[in-house]
Amino acid sequence: TRTPLIAGNWKMNLDHLQAIAFVQKLAWALDDAKHNEADAEVAVFPPFTDLRSVQTLIAADKLKIAFGAQDVSTQESGAYTGEISAAFLAKLDAQYVIIGHSERRTLHNEGDDVVAAKTAAALKHNLVPVICVGETAEDLEKHGPSAVPVAQLEEALASVSADSDIVVAYEPVWAIGSGKAATPEQAEQVCAALRESLRARLGDAIADRTRILYGGSVKAANIAGFMREPNVDGALVGGASLDVDEFAGIVRFRQ
Ligand code: 13P
Repeated sequence: TRTPLIAGNWKMNLDHLQAIAFVQKLAWALDDAKHNEADAEVAVFPPFTDLRSVQTLIAADKLKIAFGAQDVSTQESGAYTGEISAAFLAKLDAQYVIIGHSERRTLHNEGDDVVAAKTAAALKHNLVPVICVGETAEDLEKHGPSAVPVAQLEEALASVSADSDIVVAYEPVWAIGSGKAATPEQAEQVCAALRESLRARLGDAIADRTRILYGGSVKAANIAGFMREPNVDGALVGGASLDVDEFAGIVRFRQ
């Protein structure tokens, strides 16, 4: 049995002062809801400049909220202006790092080779990579639902071994920020194919323990349908993760 993961990708929103207020309010909302960690793990992915503040708050108040970064460098250290290494994130006690989000793939031309290198960098420092895959509307029309996401995952797995701890996020590009989420059946079909690809490449143990998330226009009103699917183990939430009540509503998908 996999503990569901509800992850909030803030993208380029909330400065470090807003982040502190947000995480405090989120902790209260989860407390009020008697949130049980076994029901779902909650993680936030703030901008780099917020991470230290969020870490300090979570540690000081012993909040049951995990955090991670939205990107990481392929490199260890050195002359890479503007980059952030996995070692820095690990030192901050970040648990996770999002890798290969479609916005990075398209706006920053990150190919599958870069995604694989970033995954390797994360794993080397014991960060759990949240490997994002997903097809565009055009891919969907040309290649059907799972071909592109599965091919992207297989490239990323070049640096993953059977004992690695990873998360996979299936985010159809056409569903991101569009208000047009995939149906639970569509999400299940691709998440099941991703799990089978993990199984074929790396074996049963990692396939059975790895959480595969759905992302793309998830909100409190549609989360329950996704969570009923056997191969969907949580959500990677963008817009709706910026509203405390909405995000807490997603975490309480069972109620
Ligand atoms: P939205 O939830 O805003 O559609 O964004 C999804 C996403 O890209 C999360 O990484």
